[in-house]
Amino acid sequence: MNVSSEVRHNWTIAEVEKLFALPFNDLMFQAQCVHREHFNANEVQVSTLLSIKTGACPEDCKYCSQSARYNTDIEKERLMEVEKVLQAAEKAKAQGSTRFCMGAAWRNPKERDMPYVTQMVKGVKALGMETCMTLGMLSKDQADELQEAGLDYYNHNLDTSPEHYNQIITTRSYQDRLDTLDNVRSAGMKVCSGGIVGLGEKATDRASLLAQLANLSPQPESVPINMLVKIDGTPLSDVADLDEFDFIRCIAVARIMMPKSHVRLSAGRDQMNEQMQAMCFLAGANSIFYGCKLLTAENPETNQDIALFKKLGINTETVENLVSEEERAAQLHTKVTDQQNADLFYNAG
Ligand code: SF4
Repeated sequence: MNVSSEVRHNWTIAEVEKLFALPFNDLMFQAQCVHREHFNANEVQVSTLLSIKTGACPEDCKYCSQSARYNTDIEKERLMEVEKVLQAAEKAKAQGSTRFCMGAAWRNPKERDMPYVTQMVKGVKALGMETCMTLGMLSKDQADELQEAGLDYYNHNLDTSPEHYNQIITTRSYQDRLDTLDNVRSAGMKVCSGGIVGLGEKATDRASLLAQLANLSPQPESVPINMLVKIDGTPLSDVADLDEFDFIRCIAVARIMMPKSHVRLSAGRDQMNEQMQAMCFLAGANSIFYGCKLLTAENPETNQDIALFKKLGINTETVENLVSEEERAAQLHTKVTDQQNADLFYNAG
């Protein structure tokens, strides 16, 4: 099966299943070829995620420690003060993060919250970082307000396939999620949207989720692929583990289907050893979260990440080298013409 690196928005589930069914080595090779066509293969973008309001969420996402419906040992916190958020952003910047993501456990932001969150966006932008928020569903007006404040990215995950969705969340519909993504896009912000695997879904659901994401037009700029972190007290606390190779395959297939997007190795990284993480980078993951907490799930300590990057010869993207797609393609082309053996992986014309 020859894989093309063109951006397509007409994937069928059957086609995606064919990618998943490739022999592992062939899939990894194809993903790496596509990856090198659009990105520096030894560079990873680093974001920091801060929970700005924790717990007591009215939604019923069955994997989530922050839902008020489940008895988890989460410490609830009200909306953080703007000043404290900005201090955390400064620290993240000093540790090498280029993007600061702020997450609130809300169904959607209330009007009274908007002045605070827009101040946070303005403050983080003033530090020279990219900004991202995940606040739940957004109306069109709220999306416009955040965009005017300078928000670069809005995260809203599709979570799983439309077919499996009702097993996981009943308090908002799949269409609600698509509508929020539409509002974000119409406001002119970049989209961060991905999903969670290991929710007890079938293999075909993973293919269907990736088809949903890739068929968004334009595709999300950032695609977090999360491995379920099982939290005691949630309905999914004892769901069967997903085979690690199936997770790596998800990353590789996402890379092939969304060739220009940053594919983010997100939740669950704490439970992955270095070799597993390295395989995910080889499969085309090129973004991670730094910091010891990923909202409320554990994340490897920053210095462990630095040590791993050193072992793998990976550099982090800096704000200065965040360039447009056209500039990136031109830079890559120059580098490749300088490399004797680049043809092995490289497919660029
Ligand atoms: S995933 Fe988000 S919306 Fe769902 S329960 Fe958790 S905090 Fe609430």
